[in-house]
Amino acid sequence: MSSVGKGVATASIGKILQARGYKVSLVKCDMYVNIDAGTIRPTEHGEVFVGEDGIEADQDLGNYERFTNQVSTSAHYLTTGQVYAEVIRRERNLEYDGEDVEVVPDIPNEIIRRIEGVAKKDKSDFVVIEIGGTVGEYQNVLFLEAARMLKSRHKHNVLFVLVSYLPIPGKVGEMKTKPTQYAARTLNATGIQADFILCRSEQEIDAKRREKLALFCNIEPQDAISAPDVDSIYDIPVNFAKDKLDLKILNKFGLKPKTNRLGAWVNLARKIKTLRKTVSIGIVGKYFNTGDFTLSDSYISVIESIKHASWSLGFQPKISWLDAEEYEKDPKKLRELSSYDGIIVPGGFGSRGVEGKILAVEYARKHKIPYFGLCYGLQMAVIEFARNICKLKDANTTEVNPKTPYPVIDVMPEQSANIKEKKMGGTMRLGAYPCQLKAGTVSRKAYGGTRISERHRHRYEVNNEFRALLESRGLIVAGINPGRDLVEIIELKDHPFFVGVQFHPEFKSRPLDPHPLFREFVKAAIVRKTKE
Ligand code: GLN
Repeated sequence: MSSVGKGVATASIGKILQARGYKVSLVKCDMYVNIDAGTIRPTEHGEVFVGEDGIEADQDLGNYERFTNQVSTSAHYLTTGQVYAEVIRRERNLEYDGEDVEVVPDIPNEIIRRIEGVAKKDKSDFVVIEIGGTVGEYQNVLFLEAARMLKSRHKHNVLFVLVSYLPIPGKVGEMKTKPTQYAARTLNATGIQADFILCRSEQEIDAKRREKLALFCNIEPQDAISAPDVDSIYDIPVNFAKDKLDLKILNKFGLKPKTNRLGAWVNLARKIKTLRKTVSIGIVGKYFNTGDFTLSDSYISVIESIKHASWSLGFQPKISWLDAEEYEKDPKKLRELSSYDGIIVPGGFGSRGVEGKILAVEYARKHKIPYFGLCYGLQMAVIEFARNICKLKDANTTEVNPKTPYPVIDVMPEQSANIKEKKMGGTMRLGAYPCQLKAGTVSRKAYGGTRISERHRHRYEVNNEFRALLESRGLIVAGINPGRDLVEIIELKDHPFFVGVQFHPEFKSRPLDPHPLFREFVKAAIVRKTKE
């Protein structure tokens, strides 16, 4: 079933193999016909994770990066749409030499070509491939067919892991293996035999049930891997290693472990459990009403970044969801912001909730609550400053009000052409761009260097026509894109922490290496807390 943790399982397998001295690549196969995740609403599909080269991918790639500390690119993200688009492009290019092009084997062949390409390009020992969806459904059959063909082509170099859920029905109180037996059989019907079954459940799997799965699913009892619910996803590689999944996988390929490098990770997983002091962070956003995904999925990288920073400072974060629209309906509600140690306005699009976000920024600025604005959060901070400090009444972003008298945030010229021509997919300013930091700023100090690179996803920008005015009234432009002179970071003086960034620092935070701006933000939040 969905939400069973395939993404984290994939990331964790990557992690434990990496800790054994092997080079891994992780690939996600998404069954959507969409070319990428960029056009899907976050409440349907969770966060859009942006890779270095600008790929707008499924949020699972975020876990891949956070677990393996490796950068994702478009090579690591496949969708049905991409695969078909490429096959059709090649057909139009006469690349099939006059043959008829068929769903099978041409579509699976293209999937395999892409996967073999990743292995070659990354020079990796292992490619861990996550196939989205559920076995038995129609949507992912071509990916499963590709997986079957991959195995028949590389007999001794491919193995399969089935991630399955073993329910413990309340009244019965006993773990049930039957659904997993059927899942394994349904997989058999596609021509695939699982080598391992990851047994997701509330509890550890016991010997009796391992035997059952062995008998009915054609595996060895020890190849039913225990994967009980955990408090922190960072426990999962540790649990897999405890069950020797790393050694078992290597063994099946006739390989030996070269290193044992999970130590720092094990320590972190242990440390997380011991932290008692808390710091409370409020996220003011709008992607809270969910379809299939929970609200935390919409901002998962932001949440993980807050955790990484807080843990490194010896605190446990308490994260709250604050609905910007509530502040529009009832501005008195803004007072609740005083009870938070820090406030974040994350990325966003469109006009819903914008006025509430601007009110929240104003509140944080005036009440000296540490504020961190991410992308739209920077744009909101600039609008607030323009309206309330520079007295530019009705200043706005042209995304919300194209007729504003003071377009302090305006569409980038190339983007306005994209919007006019309705070229909306994959056309934002995407991926990594350099940023030059200004001496003497909070950001310069946090990063400890002058030139950084961060990932972007936006169409609008601070309007340079207003820059001189904004700066004359005290807005600090702490970082610019050197090539195009675009504002990348703003700060305010005389405030414990007030930073807005046009990029998305949350994509580069790692559990053992928190992002410097998140670290400084949480540090300021802790200072506020301890002062209270
Ligand atoms: N909507 C804004 C823009 O396109 C901000 C985007 C974001 O927050 N990722 O510029």
